[in-house]
Amino acid sequence: MIPGPIDPPARLLMGPGPISAYPSVLRAMSAPLVGQYDPFMTEAMTETQELYRGVWNTRNDATLLVDGTSRAGIEAAIVSLVRPGDRVLVPVFGRFGHLLAEIAERALAEVHTIETEWGQVFPASVIEEAIVRVKPTLLALVQGDTSTTMNQPLDEIGTLCARHGVLFYTDATASLGGNAFEADAWGLDAATAGLQKCLGGPSGSSPITLSDRAVEVVQARKKIEAGIREPGDPSAPDFVRSNYFDLGMILDYWGPRRLNHHTEATSMLYAARECARVMMFEGRDEVIARHELAGRAMLDGVRALGLQVFGDVAHKMNNVVAVEIPPGVPGDAARAALLEDFGIEIGTSFGPLHGRVWRIGTMGYNARKDAVLTTLAALEAVLRRFGAAVPAGGGVEAALDVYRAAYRAAA
Ligand SMILES: *Cc1c(COP(=O)(O)O)cnc(C)c1O
Repeated sequence: MIPGPIDPPARLLMGPGPISAYPSVLRAMSAPLVGQYDPFMTEAMTETQELYRGVWNTRNDATLLVDGTSRAGIEAAIVSLVRPGDRVLVPVFGRFGHLLAEIAERALAEVHTIETEWGQVFPASVIEEAIVRVKPTLLALVQGDTSTTMNQPLDEIGTLCARHGVLFYTDATASLGGNAFEADAWGLDAATAGLQKCLGGPSGSSPITLSDRAVEVVQARKKIEAGIREPGDPSAPDFVRSNYFDLGMILDYWGPRRLNHHTEATSMLYAARECARVMMFEGRDEVIARHELAGRAMLDGVRALGLQVFGDVAHKMNNVVAVEIPPGVPGDAARAALLEDFGIEIGTSFGPLHGRVWRIGTMGYNARKDAVLTTLAALEAVLRRFGAAVPAGGGVEAALDVYRAAYRAAA
């Protein structure tokens, strides 16, 4: 039996990512292919770099895409910046902090972690104290960790890192586009993301930006410059042990020399370009404000349904909320009913939160009033069906109140 062509069901993706893509991103992905060095292609790459300078809020020349999911960007940043034996400090406040630590370990770093309870973020003073104690060459810190919904404040961390001579890297996959991000003003040396959260695209391309200082580090570690030696040889700096994720080589491919490395993933480039174009066309601040409003409407909505919100709400990302599953409600069966009966997907949880909370996202294209209201109405119906006592219409009314107040304030 030969299956028919791909024909996915209609879904409203309201989980922690992936989310429903902007329609124009899907259209961009179906645009015709051109050759790798077609002037149209190199021009599209250059435009994409400039668009992402806007998204990241940076003047970094080294602003580009790594082909692969967000994890590809994370891995490229870490394996290219970290030499074997380097000390790397990872403050862990959720699942993705563990991922950064694990990738740094594979890069043969000496990894030091500090941890805080899930649902909390780190005060800058705690991070500084750890920097002083560990003396790392790199601080690797998640900005928004979808596993806990927390948004780690980064605005003071760059100054700390500069004071102590530490490179500062952040994984902004979950937060970029829906929360404030200032690559230059916050003193970031490297930041990576993905498309499938607030940027409103599919997974498969990882935007990255590098400061001049970070570029110097990765350039010095290209195989030829570094000399072809074994790791640990004190007579030469170690070269990057990955070919695909060697940012020095990837930079040469995106730079004026256009040295062949991989074949840029054409349709993903179109998608990434369109994600950034949508954001810069609407306005970076406007898009972040739209996420803030949708997030606040969802927050008030779930609370009005009587659901408890997990974690320190003052530090919650705009684009995702974790709600405690009410006692007696079977979490997985209720989520399945939401999908089967309403076509709406929300997220389950990992680690210590597994079975305890659902995660509901309002990101990218779905940071939208109708998506928020439809989700709350469906959630109310499903909760009632599984025996929870929920106030009729309460979630939708509370969310509408948030939107009405915002419209009045803007009028
Ligand atoms: C969602 C998310 C990722 C996802 O990585 P993929 O490789 O795209 O699956 C990475 N980091 C953070 C902080 C995330 O929230």
